[in-house]
Amino acid sequence: MTTQVLTILGSTGSIGVSTLDVVARHPDRFQVFALAGHKQVEKLAEQCVRFAPKFAVAADGEHAARLENLLRAQNCATEVLHGAQALIDVASAPEVSGVMCAIVGAAGLPSALAAAQNGKTIYLANKETLVVSGALFMETARANGAKVLPVDSEHNAIFQVLPRDYAGRLNGHGIQSIILTASGGPFLETDLAEFDHITPAQAVKHPNWSMGRKISVDSATMMNKGLELIEAHWLFNCPPDKLEVVIHPQSVIHSMVRYLDGSVLAQMGNPDMRTPIAYCLGLPERIESGVGALDFGSLSALTFKQPDFDRFPCLKLAYDAMNAGGAAPCVLNAANEIAVAAFLDGKIKFTDIAKVVAHSLEQNFSDGLNDIGSLSAQDAQTRIQAQAYIDGLN
Ligand code: NAD
Ligand code: MG
Repeated sequence: MTTQVLTILGSTGSIGVSTLDVVARHPDRFQVFALAGHKQVEKLAEQCVRFAPKFAVAADGEHAARLENLLRAQNCATEVLHGAQALIDVASAPEVSGVMCAIVGAAGLPSALAAAQNGKTIYLANKETLVVSGALFMETARANGAKVLPVDSEHNAIFQVLPRDYAGRLNGHGIQSIILTASGGPFLETDLAEFDHITPAQAVKHPNWSMGRKISVDSATMMNKGLELIEAHWLFNCPPDKLEVVIHPQSVIHSMVRYLDGSVLAQMGNPDMRTPIAYCLGLPERIESGVGALDFGSLSALTFKQPDFDRFPCLKLAYDAMNAGGAAPCVLNAANEIAVAAFLDGKIKFTDIAKVVAHSLEQNFSDGLNDIGSLSAQDAQTRIQAQAYIDGLN
């Protein structure tokens, strides 16, 4: 067994903390080369003291100085870097074998792309990378021999139940469709008349999963499932019409693959991200993750229902953007990030999130973008337009 040398981007977030929990269980397997924690310097300092990485990356000079002080006070030798270029540097360093991409939002794209350009094994949690630049990212990974392993629980489940030698051709393996399960979030049964009054505190309280604030709101609007459709489209080279979504409120089945002979293969487990993380980090072996055994005695029922676009307009918008292709998913993502931030800030209503995204998708935008410069320009332009629309709502 060779030791894997890891860079963990977004180490202070929900996925980052779960990753370090798994890493700590296997000191013989993993060595931490770099941790990136943006503005959460106290948490990042604690992680540096515990895991002794060579580098830690903070958001900017001010946060780097604060981190530096905390580390020196504890005689921690970790070198402090900061800024977007440092994220790229620690994702590309020759010593590194694997990069956990767990930054939230399109901010995670340049570092994930750098890992792909440098042929790293990529543990991909940051779904926005595939939504914004799926074609470019997958082609860059392929051209440079970078392995992309899906951390997102649905995609990890699909990855686990696809044939081991699956090479991106559904037909070649007798696959009929890929089925993403969705919990439906906290408002699956809420009266639609109450949707205008949903608060950020209610929206971030997911019934099954403990996650960061942005993805929790995305789960409540079901935009998360929409982003995941686009993610699955690129990861598995799956045409949009072969992707299904089914609501499964218990979050025990994490996703499924439907085969031509009538078989449906599912992956199950407790809703805890340490399972998919451990699967990716351990491959080809199964390693201990800290997740408890699934207790069938305490499961009352596994239920399923079809998603309802009146309740979840964001899911419909994501389907439309996926089918439109080109820059539409980039626009969808940028508008959603701005809208979710405004909602969490108390600036717009829960129901306005879909309005902001729909408005952005109605604007003229460039098509066929397949380089990082044009995608970033489109992302920036959409953010400005979405913000102006939000300002007009108030
Ligand atoms: P989080 O908000 O808990 O953590 C985000 C991390 O990114 C933190 O370390 C934060 O400091 C860092 N960060 C934030 N803005 C940054 C920026 N501009 N530049 C650099 N770093 C920045 O989020 P999370 O729930 O851990 O999610 C991370 C990613 O994983 C998201 O893309 C999300 O969709 C995906 N994901 C999360 C889960 C989950 O269970 N939490 C499941 C599947 C996929
Ligand atoms: Mg998911």
